[in-house]
Amino acid sequence: MATIDEIVEDRWDVNLARALADDPVGLLVYRSNLLGSDLWITNFAGGNTSGKIVASDPVTGDPVTVLWVKGSGGDLGTLTHEGLAQLRMDRLLALRARYRDSGDEDAMVAFYDHCLFHPKSRAPSIDTPLHALIPARHVDHLHPDAVIAIAAARDGETITREAFGGKVGWLGWVRPGFELATRIADLASANPELVGVILGGHGIISWADTSEACYRRSIGLINQAVSFLATRRGRPRFGGRVLAAAPTPAERRAIAAAALPVLRGLASRQTRKIGRFVDSDQILDFAASADCQRLSALGTSCPDHFLRTKVTPLLLPFEPEVGAKALADGSRPLFDVYADSHAAYYKAHAHAGSPAMRDPQPVVILWPGIGMFTFAKDAATARIAGEYFINAVNVMEGAERLGGYQGLPPADAFSIEYWALEEAKLKRLPPERPLARRAALVSGAAGGIGLAVARRFLAEGAAVALLDVDATKLAETTRELASRFGADNVAPFVADLRDPAAIEAAIEGATLALGGLDLLVNNAGLSIAGDVDVFTIDQFDLMHDVMTRGSLLLSQAFVRRLKAQGLGGDILYIASKNAVVAGPSNVAYGSVKAAQAHQARLLAAELGRFGIRVNTINPDAVIRGSGIWAAGWAEDRARAHGVTVDNLPKHYAQRTLLSVEVLPEDVADAAFCFVGGALSKTTGAMLPVDGGIPAAFPR
Ligand SMILES: [Zn+2]
Repeated sequence: MATIDEIVEDRWDVNLARALADDPVGLLVYRSNLLGSDLWITNFAGGNTSGKIVASDPVTGDPVTVLWVKGSGGDLGTLTHEGLAQLRMDRLLALRARYRDSGDEDAMVAFYDHCLFHPKSRAPSIDTPLHALIPARHVDHLHPDAVIAIAAARDGETITREAFGGKVGWLGWVRPGFELATRIADLASANPELVGVILGGHGIISWADTSEACYRRSIGLINQAVSFLATRRGRPRFGGRVLAAAPTPAERRAIAAAALPVLRGLASRQTRKIGRFVDSDQILDFAASADCQRLSALGTSCPDHFLRTKVTPLLLPFEPEVGAKALADGSRPLFDVYADSHAAYYKAHAHAGSPAMRDPQPVVILWPGIGMFTFAKDAATARIAGEYFINAVNVMEGAERLGGYQGLPPADAFSIEYWALEEAKLKRLPPERPLARRAALVSGAAGGIGLAVARRFLAEGAAVALLDVDATKLAETTRELASRFGADNVAPFVADLRDPAAIEAAIEGATLALGGLDLLVNNAGLSIAGDVDVFTIDQFDLMHDVMTRGSLLLSQAFVRRLKAQGLGGDILYIASKNAVVAGPSNVAYGSVKAAQAHQARLLAAELGRFGIRVNTINPDAVIRGSGIWAAGWAEDRARAHGVTVDNLPKHYAQRTLLSVEVLPEDVADAAFCFVGGALSKTTGAMLPVDGGIPAAFPR
């Protein structure tokens, strides 16, 4: 992410804009995407844009001015026509007569639906009146770090005058809503020379007559703020670094990975969360600085920031000689103090209409010398919380240059964090999926059953680390899954299960990438058939090393993390019908699978007291997409059964009780059954997914 001194580039493409000349709404979308695609101009989902555009009334055919404004819950960077709310300006302006004072604030929101131009319009946001009441055709409201630095500086009003020379007005902190809109509109009407207003502790609003002029004005004002900040450089950032010895990047990662399970367990004491680790220079400089403690305690400023990050981070002490795990264990009292202080803040400011207290655990955890951990309901939200905190650090840096950063008074912060309207927005979110807040690791994930399980777990809301020995296939799989389920939710690792160091590195990498682990699927495998006097012992060793030994190594490394997390977990073994059925020419594969299946039962017996459940699925004849059928196995089996390779699926289907072919997705369904909540009291079980084979009935 950009630093506070970065000039914003003018990316307006004249040719592209000309093509949209007859489509003012399209031009508004284009402008919004340009502004929103730069986190430096506005944070994710922060800020909004609008245009007052004449349309034809579908009933009367009369011209009517419609406010097209970013609707509730959208993001400017990815905004489309559908993300815009459409409201009639005549009705919005009439609302001013209904409004008396800030006591009406929440009631005004209900009126916006009565101003809609299109019945299927996106729901209007609380910033709608901000755009409606300003007497200009195009309006941008943004949260650029350089401008918030001025808005959050102790002398913000004076600095605004100095930096913008009277072209930009100043309005002290007012919570977003109708009151803020009327005050800005009054300021703009009384001072026609104004082209924008800095909103104290919040951001900026600016306006112009065309989309192009509005875009240029917005980035022009941001760059004016950046240039002004550059004139105040001098003192070292955040008072300079006070940390004597800093660990190397490799040491940092190792310490973070060792501490993460403990930190995640503590952060998840009330509700389970997915984590994210960042150790960028910006974060390391801030966390190791002389001012970190003082500034962190002041809290973040822009309202968007503390909705995402909570008002303050949790600061861990820097004592690397104690050891990562011991230090993380020792941080329990700090989590208690943090949660208690959040409860005290809630108690001090809550009133009868306030929503119930939310999870009081920290979202952002700063560890000097190591980096930043963020915890949230899913991987994307955890990443975004981290990005917001970097925005907040930028703001603090800028405001400190300007003479001193000030956070919002706690009562004002509370009125945003626990605003009934924000709570209503949270309540409108779709219900969480069954595997939300959980992270899985699937071995052999680049094809067949492993891929089907990974896909199913992702679809059910989990984040998934994909492990495979085939780097090319894994890259392909990762691309496909990331584009469908979001890059935040997918983390690939190449590892050969015969190599303990590679397994350890993959588990460490998955812990760092997903901030923890909850589910392990021991799926990777291969199959070589042959009569006892024909197959080689090397072939047996290979199968044993990958399946029996490889899955044990994975389970070992996984269980160590799970015990540190203290949140329980699940291990699934994808064994085989051959684990329980004896047939000819299969002594190597069958005995390895039997060992794997018993390994699962032994682990179930040992790990129950830690809330870790271990179950086994015995598939049979899953042919489609399976790697084990390569390398001559299919030809071999076809020959053994006296059929052609093409007829193998049918042959296998016919010998089952249900006469059905077993697909990778059938095994994925069974895997989900074990971990999705329906079988939460089952461990040590073995479930056949084979179409029904009496000889394979577990007993
Ligand atoms: Zn805002």
